[in-house]
Amino acid sequence: MRTFLPPVLLPGLLLRLLLRLWVGLPLCWLSPAQAGADAVTPAMAAQADRLLQSALEKNIAWDVVRSLTTEVGPRLAGTPAEARARRWAVARLRAMGLDNPREEPFQVPLWRRGAERAEILTPFPQPLVVTALGGSTATGPEGVRGTVVSFPSLDALRAAAPGSLAGKVVFIDEPMARSRDGSGYARAVGKRRAAAYLAAERGAVAALIRSVGTSSHRFAHAGQMRRVLEEGESGVPTAALAAPDADQLRRALGYGEPVQVSLLLTPRSLPPAASGNVVAEIVGREAPQEIVLVGAHLDSWDLGTGAVDDGAGVGIVLGALDVLLRELPRPPRRTIRVVLFGAEEVGLVGAWAYLQRHAASLPQHIIGTESDFGAGDIWRFDSRVGEAQLATIDAMAALLRPLGIERGNNAARGGPDMKYLREAGMPVVGLLQDGSDYFDLHHTPDDTLDKIAPGDLDQNVAAYAAFLYLAAESEAYFR
Ligand SMILES: [Zn+2]
Repeated sequence: MRTFLPPVLLPGLLLRLLLRLWVGLPLCWLSPAQAGADAVTPAMAAQADRLLQSALEKNIAWDVVRSLTTEVGPRLAGTPAEARARRWAVARLRAMGLDNPREEPFQVPLWRRGAERAEILTPFPQPLVVTALGGSTATGPEGVRGTVVSFPSLDALRAAAPGSLAGKVVFIDEPMARSRDGSGYARAVGKRRAAAYLAAERGAVAALIRSVGTSSHRFAHAGQMRRVLEEGESGVPTAALAAPDADQLRRALGYGEPVQVSLLLTPRSLPPAASGNVVAEIVGREAPQEIVLVGAHLDSWDLGTGAVDDGAGVGIVLGALDVLLRELPRPPRRTIRVVLFGAEEVGLVGAWAYLQRHAASLPQHIIGTESDFGAGDIWRFDSRVGEAQLATIDAMAALLRPLGIERGNNAARGGPDMKYLREAGMPVVGLLQDGSDYFDLHHTPDDTLDKIAPGDLDQNVAAYAAFLYLAAESEAYFR
């Protein structure tokens, strides 16, 4: 069967899209989809188009972010605030009309931020803006002081001999490259994860890293060191420097004299505390045991209110579900399950807990994806499915093309909380957002609601609503 949209459905959508989108509408999108795409019928294509139109006209995504960031605010894993976020989510999902809204509890090691202060002592005394990395040990109330040894990269620190930095303060001054796909993060985040342990092995008393981010503003980017579920040594106290402060420290070092700094960090590592995932469904009408999974994460770092990370994802996913509940005349064939993961930021603890709890039904997890990359428009649709399923995915991608979304590759990751499910064999797709500005705000005090304008999330909601419907209505298995 042919899967292109009948031209009669186009005018309203076409008009709005031409007004809304900076990209022109590719003419090729009217061409028939590739052979073998029978899993997307003309009726499904028409329904998907109606979902796109509805999502672009009216959706609740921004209001979801407003509500979460205002009524809960910051929601660090394992804290009472994260518990309030779970109660907020269950109530919201119930009010929307989803089936079986519930918490699935688990425990997470708890870490709380304390005081944090850094100064250049000599030769140019002045304060530096820092924030402790998640999982950092404390300096004690007196703080530590030492002479700075600068490294241009994590690899350079790794090359230093064990014990060679006795009494020193390590400084890793490695910048992060800005890019649409966020690819600079994967490299830059290495220093956040490993600096504390490599510095400890070499005898240092503390470590400072240039913030993992692309902002030039004077705040530091928080973020987890090693994942809390990984075993290992505890490392030296470690903080991120705001980018302008990293620049300042570099300039001070450029005079060639020893630069001495002090660092005070008093975070606490506490016994495991309650966390949890929030789960709900639109139960399928014909194959309710088959699950199309969509996620976002509910927890956030503690400095901002978690608007772009990941309030936006929560808004996008709930917005898409709301469109489906309002527009579909009957439930799709398969179940659509939403998981709002807890404790993502500290190391995918909710994703691990989900895998453990649902291991028996893993083969019924048909396909999954997560929204966790801010509020930018989606520009590419990647998949990770069996070769024989590519025609179906291509047919779905053709229906997203009017949103300015191009077909990408078959090496999707599907989002951080899909990691363990993907590794266990669940097919995934990735609706890739423009992340050019995402790392200006990521894990900073500036991650707040004002950075997202009403309407910014609509294109995302449209794409998610259409994809979820098509995957849940189709008879294709994507493995
Ligand atoms: Zn996130």
